[in-house]
Amino acid sequence: MTRKLPATDVVIVGLGWTGSILAHELTGAGLNVVAIERGPWRDTATDFPPAYAQDELRYRIRHDLFLRPEQLTMTFRNNASQTALPIRSWGSFMPPNGVGGGGVHWNAETWRFLPSDFELRTHLVGRYGEKFLPEDMTIQDWGITYDDLEPHYDKFEYLCGTSGKAGNIKGRIQAGGNPFEGARSREYPTPPQKQPYGPTLFAQAAQEMGYKPFPQPSGNLSQAYTNPLGVTIGPCTYCGFCEWFGCGNYSKASPQTTILPALIRRPNFEARTQCEVSKINLDKSGKRASGVTYVDSSGNEWEQPADLVLLCAFQLFNVQLLLTSGIGKPYDPRAGEGVIGRNYSYQVTSSVGAFFDDKIFNPFIASGSIGMCIDEFNGDNFDHGPHGFVGGGYMGAVQTNGRPIQTARTPRATPRWGAEWKKAVAKSYLRSYETVTHGSCYSYRDAYLDLDPTYTDRFGRKLMRLTFDFHDNELKMSTYLTDRLAEVAQKMGPRQLEKHPRRGPYDVTVYQTTHTCGGAIMGAEPKTSALNRYLQSWDVPNLFVMGATAFPQNPGYNPTDTVGALAYWAADAIVNRYLKSPGPLVQI
Ligand SMILES: Cc1cc2nc3c(=O)[nH]c(=O)nc-3n(C[C@H](O)[C@H](O)[C@H](O)COP(=O)(O)OP(=O)(O)OC[C@H]3O[C@@H](n4cnc5c(N)ncnc54)[C@H](O)[C@@H]3O)c2cc1C
Ligand code: SF4
Repeated sequence: MTRKLPATDVVIVGLGWTGSILAHELTGAGLNVVAIERGPWRDTATDFPPAYAQDELRYRIRHDLFLRPEQLTMTFRNNASQTALPIRSWGSFMPPNGVGGGGVHWNAETWRFLPSDFELRTHLVGRYGEKFLPEDMTIQDWGITYDDLEPHYDKFEYLCGTSGKAGNIKGRIQAGGNPFEGARSREYPTPPQKQPYGPTLFAQAAQEMGYKPFPQPSGNLSQAYTNPLGVTIGPCTYCGFCEWFGCGNYSKASPQTTILPALIRRPNFEARTQCEVSKINLDKSGKRASGVTYVDSSGNEWEQPADLVLLCAFQLFNVQLLLTSGIGKPYDPRAGEGVIGRNYSYQVTSSVGAFFDDKIFNPFIASGSIGMCIDEFNGDNFDHGPHGFVGGGYMGAVQTNGRPIQTARTPRATPRWGAEWKKAVAKSYLRSYETVTHGSCYSYRDAYLDLDPTYTDRFGRKLMRLTFDFHDNELKMSTYLTDRLAEVAQKMGPRQLEKHPRRGPYDVTVYQTTHTCGGAIMGAEPKTSALNRYLQSWDVPNLFVMGATAFPQNPGYNPTDTVGALAYWAADAIVNRYLKSPGPLVQI
């Protein structure tokens, strides 16, 4: 039996990055906010103490902080001619589970997108013509511009205390920063992290080749910082147990280290953990959300009525809840119609391994976001005309750890086990270095999310199905970026170099990034987008959907700076527009 609770002003589904930002902004505006979170409560002192936080087996190999497939999974296939099967062990991307969401165990590489990324189709068609784009590519403009988002990027970075060096302040190019970035209103809140030997060597090589290296923007802080909410973050100790781990030093920007200490003091905020939202409820008109239904850890079902529903459950689960709740028209790839599930995209990474005789790198001195990068081959920063593809990515020396179980880099011809393998690991551990590219993934007609016809979850709902493969455009891009990266790596003076460009087909079992995007994208019109420019559902105006769900395609950067900026942008629209006149914020 479902028990009905007293109504609240706002219900938030998921208390990760976007849920925490929205809860803080809306409680600040005087609203009563209930956040419902599937996983447990997590605190730095109790959950990530340095005494055991650095346990590679527990966190990296056994996925302690992540969603378990038996809790919830989805099905996967590369294309529509295949039968999708359930994912039984998360691999390629790692869905979060618990307060703080992915913010707990992210690397904290904190990138802004390029101005042209937000007007991608218009920009590329203007420069190269419509015919230059693959016919089945479905890239779109976002319906907002970089300038719209700049104050909100600034707010998120100053919340996090991001460490970096500006490349462009108010249109003036700054020495030592990324000269390709959009104009920012001021310098980063804290200076860049110190760089170890590998990134320093990479930067020297890149500079000699005429590129403009700069430190990767990092949410692992270079120095102590107190953010505008009065929360203090400590300096990073370069422990190297960052990505996949909670930070025991209070040094990684996360909801726990930036927002939650302020939020939990507010009497108009309540968090309910170990409670999974199973449905967004609609009223009889079907055009208004009446609240959500959730199941607690004892299996009891509750209905939480609310005036405003904010979906902050991470890209994949936002789409899943829209599909299973029957909100918006599901995408049909054959007709090219419908919007929920449309424009799913991912990320295209690659690497170049280098083995040295005369150089010692200490890979265990690292942080999640450390590194020196170049941006000459990102977005449309170079002329794509001669190359026959669009897109790009940043590249650099961003080796984030030297953890003992997984950092066993050996040259290609080495046996995979036995005495020779051990010898090669011992020889290479300190004398090898991996450089990486972080490339874009544009959207296509045949890459989408829908409901699986065969498999159901523990609530009896259909599992979500992912249909996705890399396209020639992305594979060409990856080969090109990897070749350019290898040229810089070669200049670092290795004995041996190994290129690993991304190759198809896409393999859902091998970790790449947790940068899944799209599925309920933002845009200028309801025919081709699920959300308007304020992340408000076109169909249900008292429902807003946060996160990378809204990205029409994925640029060549990590998503979370933009996810955070969009959350602030949407919060601003809710407080200053929607609350004054509840209803659609964009009329068409
Ligand atoms: C290992 C790893 C490394 C990463 N590194 C980087 C990086 O360096 N840079 C970068 O930009 N990004 C990185 N990311 C991505 C980043 O973590 C996400 O972009 C960010 O956390 C997304 O914020 P969100 O609020 O959309 O979702 P999340 O922060 O993931 O929060 C979603 C929350 O919703 C909860 N939830 C889901 N479904 C339900 C439900 N039905 N009911 C109730 N609660 C629910 C989840 O448990 C979770 O707590 C990384 C991610 C991972 C996993
Ligand atoms: S590398 Fe720095 S920010 Fe990351 S977990 Fe270690 S101390 Fe924390």
